[in-house]
Amino acid sequence: MTDKTDEQDVAFGFRRVGETEKQGLVNEVFSKVAERYDQMNDLMSAGLHRLWKDDLVSMLNPPHGQGAFSHLDVAGGTGDVAFRVLRAGGPNVRVTLADISPEMLGEGRKRAETDGLLGRCAFSVANAEALPFPDKCFDGYTIAFGIRNVTHIDKALAEAYRVLRPGGRFLCLEFSQVDVPLLDGIYDAYSFTVIPAVGKVVTGDGQPYRYLVESIRTFPRQDDFKSLIEDAGFANVTYRNLTGGVVAIHSGWRI
Ligand code: SAM
Repeated sequence: MTDKTDEQDVAFGFRRVGETEKQGLVNEVFSKVAERYDQMNDLMSAGLHRLWKDDLVSMLNPPHGQGAFSHLDVAGGTGDVAFRVLRAGGPNVRVTLADISPEMLGEGRKRAETDGLLGRCAFSVANAEALPFPDKCFDGYTIAFGIRNVTHIDKALAEAYRVLRPGGRFLCLEFSQVDVPLLDGIYDAYSFTVIPAVGKVVTGDGQPYRYLVESIRTFPRQDDFKSLIEDAGFANVTYRNLTGGVVAIHSGWRI
């Protein structure tokens, strides 16, 4: 039996909640926004999220050759990254989308069907902290705008390491800390006023978008996150800031 008093507090946006409570709150956010998620992404980022995801996939550089390439996109949501991986690579690339939200994955499945990609995708309702896959079974692992939502980042990174084959690549696209003077002030004002207001108009509820903005501010800075990836065992860990650090792509290799 778990003693409630042993439970750690973790950040849920700017609130502190019990560690066993956080995932349920995150799941509520994504089940509410799933249907409008893609539309909101375009509105909130003025389409920039598409360029950031294109950069992520060009770093992965999925192969065009005869050999099979098995890719895992965790917190894959509605499939934005997974479908880019399929389109960028050859016919032997296969992608598994794993996400804890059946609603988000459901939207992804509909898109895969519409886009004729269903035959090359698998869908798995799964927690990034406890993936239902054997050791060393994927050649690549991506997680985009997902890791800041998990309760224990160290467990998610350990799982990424476990399921990758030696030589496999880990890539994470995540909102980060702006490193350009002036841009940080503008970005703050935009995030805390415009995004929840647009969220309220489009989805009828501004609260999920308030959480999303707050969770960006509580996520570790670029160098701190790099150290966490190294602690999980990854080698040659690097990161690149995009749009002045609004987002960063961290990369590491499974040895
Ligand atoms: N990767 C997609 C993209 O870039 O458009 C979706 C990102 S969305 C902001 C975050 C996703 O993380 C949601 O689909 C949510 O359900 C998922 N998620 C949150 N916690 C998770 C966890 N512990 N394990 C797996 N997925 C999780």
